[in-house]
Amino acid sequence: MNRRTIFSWFAMLVVLSSSINASAQSCVGNPVSVQILGSGGPAINPFRSSTSYLLWVGDQARILVDMGGGAFHRFGQAQAKLSDLSVVAISHLHPDHVSDLPALLWLSNRDRQKPLPIVGPSGNNVAPSFSTFLNRLFDEENGAFQVLGSTLGGTQAYAGTGVRLDVGVVDATKAEPSTVLDREGVTVTALGIPHGNIPTLAYRVQMSRDNLDENGGGNQGLKRRPVAKS
Ligand SMILES: [Zn+2]
Repeated sequence: MNRRTIFSWFAMLVVLSSSINASAQSCVGNPVSVQILGSGGPAINPFRSSTSYLLWVGDQARILVDMGGGAFHRFGQAQAKLSDLSVVAISHLHPDHVSDLPALLWLSNRDRQKPLPIVGPSGNNVAPSFSTFLNRLFDEENGAFQVLGSTLGGTQAYAGTGVRLDVGVVDATKAEPSTVLDREGVTVTALGIPHGNIPTLAYRVQMSRDNLDENGGGNQGLKRRPVAKS
């Protein structure tokens, strides 16, 4: 395959040691970049939101990894658009990685009409599978947020305030990576990694070399620049 890994990253599980500016900055204009929306863990922190990352390709936020507390606000500060996302990738179901997901989805059908792909891990005896987790949140009959029932296909009048989700569940015990996105030159794979007793996924992003060129043009208007290689 004429394909080369130009960037990869793995879900951060605890706390990053590097400092972060309290104000999120826009990554619009950079060719390929990761923006840390939140690097905090579960502890209360006056300077950091909990975990969340955005992968920008050109001027579009294409991949969102995790949505911990405070990340909803950071997403807005970053000027990211829900309509640009190719996938939301959830690493695991600890609250500091997923608690702002309902906030992101509330009234999301105003910003996006096409279904939003979203993926998370399988379950075990201490955590539900990602699909069960979403059902417990958004089921129009029994969910905690029945008003978000449309995210799972609910049709009740009160269940029409969130974009339809295209839910994927990855077996976190599988030995080989699973492809969760392969579109428009971007491939995302998921692989189970250790994190205590809770099923957890790391995500890897690969981008087609065809999307970059030496002069900054490229078929998506992207510029090549030095980035980490895996
Ligand atoms: Zn965790």
